[in-house]
Amino acid sequence: VTRLIDGRAIAAEIADEVKGLVARAPRPPRLAVVLPSDDEAAGWYVRSIQRTASRVGIGCQVDELFEAGASVIARRLDVLSSDPDVDGIICQTPLPSGLRLTDVGSHIAPGKDVDGANPVSLGRLASGMPSFAPATAAAVLEILQREHVRLTGARAVVVGRSIVVGKPAALLLLAQDATVTVCHSRTADLAAVCASADVLVAAVGRARMIGAEYIKPGAVVIDVGTNPDPSGGDGLVGDVAADEAGAAEALTPVPGGVGPVTTMMLMLHTARAAAG
Ligand code: NAP
Repeated sequence: VTRLIDGRAIAAEIADEVKGLVARAPRPPRLAVVLPSDDEAAGWYVRSIQRTASRVGIGCQVDELFEAGASVIARRLDVLSSDPDVDGIICQTPLPSGLRLTDVGSHIAPGKDVDGANPVSLGRLASGMPSFAPATAAAVLEILQREHVRLTGARAVVVGRSIVVGKPAALLLLAQDATVTVCHSRTADLAAVCASADVLVAAVGRARMIGAEYIKPGAVVIDVGTNPDPSGGDGLVGDVAADEAGAAEALTPVPGGVGPVTTMMLMLHTARAAAG
């Protein structure tokens, strides 16, 4: 039987660590969120960031810059980057059309880049230098480590190579001495590659794509996907068909897996940024 990994319980453990850091800080750490669109899902996510921040004693300001152009967003990020009262900065996607996160992310000072949006942060991560990884990728690693999953020498397969999830998750796994394969839409024999994984990370964005034939018996499966339910329900479904994942030793559910840990990783990064 597959063990479901409790993301909310892991987030609660991390919250205790964050509160400890906040208690030792000279003033409450502060997170600034730039919100450049009135997208419904983004608004929902930002409100959950605000709720989480208030629970752990982190101040959170949201700067709404709906449909602003690149230069307005960049200028705001520059101002926040040099504001001594701000410790962490995120620029919430989606961005207005034509803008990429790498365009504006460069305006977030790396020391405050708690969601790893500045290409410098990814470069530092690849170089083995201290940096903040994107919160979702950091959450994947945090879950594996808190669940005591052995990564040294393990075969890890990451499905997805986005800058925000797949690529940084692969770098973090590599830094833990896993043997890492990164798959994408052009990967041949995807199911067979996945079925070789001791640790399988699904970050595809396709509901229930990862079925039984993708999962090695005893594998630990981390499901990053958050997709609209294709059968019309109002909940979110993952990239993994959970009812077909019986061979896995452990699986993160959707919802209640990677999501709550991701939000808490933003808080941990902000508290660490405040600690300097
Ligand atoms: P993305 O930018 O769309 O990247 C998707 C990746 O999956 C791409 O690398 C793509 O390959 C690959 N892919 C697409 N179809 C594939 C297929 N049929 N076979 C193999 N690979 C395929 O998405 P993302 O931003 O990384 O997000 C991935 C998922 O995670 C989404 O469901 C998103 O909602 C979710 N997410 C969750 C959280 C959280 O906190 N829980 C945070 C962020 C994202 P190519 O590169 O070849 O196109």
